[in-house]
Parts: sequence; structure tokens; C-alpha cells
Amino acid sequence: MKLAKRIKKLEPSVTLAATAKVRKLKAEGHNVIGLTVGEPDFTTPDNIEEAAIEAIKSGKVSFYTAAGGTPELKEAIIQVTKRDYGLDLEPNQVIVTSGAKFALYTLFQTILDPGDEVIIPVPYWVSYGEQVKLAEGVPVLVETKLENEYKITVEQLEEALTDRTQAILLNSPSNPTGMIYTEDELRAIGEWAVEKDILIISDDIYARLVYNGKHAPYMASLSDEIAKQTIIINGVSKTFAMTGWRIGYAIGNAEIIKGMASIVSQSTSNPTAVSQAAALEALLGDQSTVREMRIAFEERLNTIYPKIAALPGFKLKKPQGAFYLFPNIKGAMELGGYDNVTTWVNDLLEQEHVALVTGEGFGAPENVRMSYSSSMEDLEEAVVRIRRFIENSQ
Ligand code: PLP
Repeated sequence: MKLAKRIKKLEPSVTLAATAKVRKLKAEGHNVIGLTVGEPDFTTPDNIEEAAIEAIKSGKVSFYTAAGGTPELKEAIIQVTKRDYGLDLEPNQVIVTSGAKFALYTLFQTILDPGDEVIIPVPYWVSYGEQVKLAEGVPVLVETKLENEYKITVEQLEEALTDRTQAILLNSPSNPTGMIYTEDELRAIGEWAVEKDILIISDDIYARLVYNGKHAPYMASLSDEIAKQTIIINGVSKTFAMTGWRIGYAIGNAEIIKGMASIVSQSTSNPTAVSQAAALEALLGDQSTVREMRIAFEERLNTIYPKIAALPGFKLKKPQGAFYLFPNIKGAMELGGYDNVTTWVNDLLEQEHVALVTGEGFGAPENVRMSYSSSMEDLEEAVVRIRRFIENSQ
């Protein structure tokens, strides 16, 4: 059967593939510790589930909603964005989508012509580059350094700039590195983007999962000019343990948002009505579970980070947000005579039944991603097994 060229070129998500592999091994009865998932291990808080059940019973969610989301949910997004970012928004600057991933997808489809470039700092979240390519754009991948906490600088942006540069993509806190940009760093990039008239895509999906008493500054809060230049991507998946509900949103320039809504109207029609009702409760209801989940992640990070950092041949800085560790394991690979991180990850899974994600899908062939969205027991046991694997491979 003939397939389109774009499908032949498309890399499937390495994180979803790794998680599927773990599920399969577990189903076959293997004692696998999977640290591959990109989602909280908590279930959705009760108040949100109950709001969804009530919405179903009311019959109101039997029907299509507006393509860009229900007026109530958009209003809630406007309210929390005022609270968190200090921004005053109109409903035509907000679109609700089937997950933040689809917000990004429709955004690229809306802003890119063939050959238009998007600057993406490396390591990057696995879907960014592939989504740019699906829109016939060109991902311009810029390497960042562990010493600079894997953050891009204005000098690097300047070097990457061409007359086809359409946008830059920032994700703070970052998946996979867990690093956050300081306000000064964001301001420097924001002012540069305003001066060059480059759109800033600010993926803030992990902004409420920040640890060690820090907080993640928001690009769009820094000035009116920067806010006008920024599209915010956000959603309920990570903050409220709602990955399965598929509700994300984008905020920004009304013309871009209108374009995105047209794509939604011709593709998914609207995000699922019952999930929108649940997201409304998530945003406006009791927020105590957000804090509880954040504290649980922070405890795991503080327990597990020193143990991971002490593994032979592992190098990393302590993450400040999200729920991933992204060590450079070049030293550990060398100890075992490995020259390929994916082979190292596969051997670890085969010999010690610990599943990590290869850094290759994130553009980092010396790193692995390990999610600490798992029980403390599993995390502690994983460290024991990884250490044994490294020692046995020497
Ligand atoms: N952005 C980043 C950096 C992510 O890690 C994810 C999910 O893994 C998303 C966006 C998409 O989230 P969702 O589509 O579940 O809203």
C-alpha cells in the first residue's frame, strides 16, 4: 500500500513506545520497573472525577461544543491566566484543544509555510521537531550544554537566526531536563524575539510543578511587548493528573488562535465535552491536590537525585521542575564499552528489568530520561539494579 512521504519520515514517539514495551513485559509476568512514563502516577482528584460524572448525568455533554472550547472553560482559563500571569485576555485569544500536544500541532499548522524554521533547543521534548516537520517546517536544533543547565542563550539564537526563522520554542520547566529559565534569561530571549519579530512559543505545561522553593517565571508576564509576541501552551494533564482526559490550551494572538480553531473545526470538531467539564473543575475547584502531588514529587526527587548522581559515570544537575531526571551517562557507557545509548538502555531492560528512555529521541545521544513519577520503593530498587548493571558490565 502506498504511504505518504510525510509518514515515512515521521519518527514515532520514543516515550510512548518505551512505555508500551514496559506494559507488554509486565503483562508477560516480568518484574519490570518502568521509569518511562511522561505522566503523574496519581489518579485524577475526586472532585474532578465527580464533576465529570455530574456533567454526564446532566446530559449537557452529549453534544458538540464550540470548536475552540466551551465559553465556561475559556472563561476559567482567562481567570487562572490573570491570576498566574497577570494577563488580561479576551475569549478570542484562547483556544481549548485535545491536549497540549494538539495545541502545538495546530499551532505549527497555522503559522508555518513549507521551509519556515522553528528554533528548538536540544535536548527537546520528542514531539516538537516531528510536529514542525508535519507542517512542512524545518526544526533548527540548537545544542545546549549541561554546564548552562541545558538552556539556550541569545548568542546561540542570534547564530541560528535566518530570514526563514518563524518561531522559537521554549519549555520551562523542561521535559526532559527539569531545568527552568530565570527571569533574566527569559527577558533577554523575549526582548531579542520582540526586536527580531520572532514568535515565542512558551510551553508552560510543567509550570506548576517546580521544587526546592523555586518558581518558574512566565515569559508572557515579563512585558506587554513580550506577551504580544508569545503563544502560551498549557493544559491540565500534568498539574491535575489528567493525561487521559486530553485537555490542553493555547493563549495569544487572536488571529493565530482563530486559525487554530479553523483547523480544529475541520479535524477533531471540538475537545471532548465531558473532559472540558472536568477541566473546568480542575482549574476553578479545590487546588489542594495540586500541592499534595507537587510535594510527593519533590520528596521523591530529593530522595532519588543524590543516589542517581552517585552512580558511576552519571553526570547531571539537580532538576528544578517537572518529574524527570536526564543524566548524561557517557561515563557509564564507557565503563561497559558501549558506544550507543539505546543499546545500553536495551541491555539494562533485558538484564535488570529497568526501563528508561533513550536520550536519542530527545536529541541527546549520551543521556537517558528517567521519570520519578513512580513509587519510592520502585525508584530505590531501580537505583540498586542500575548500579548492579553498571558494575557487572565493566
Ligand atoms: N509539552 C511537553 C513538554 C510535554 O512533556 C507534554 C506531554 O508529555 C505535552 C506538551 C503534552 O501534554 P498533553 O498533550 O497531555 O496536554
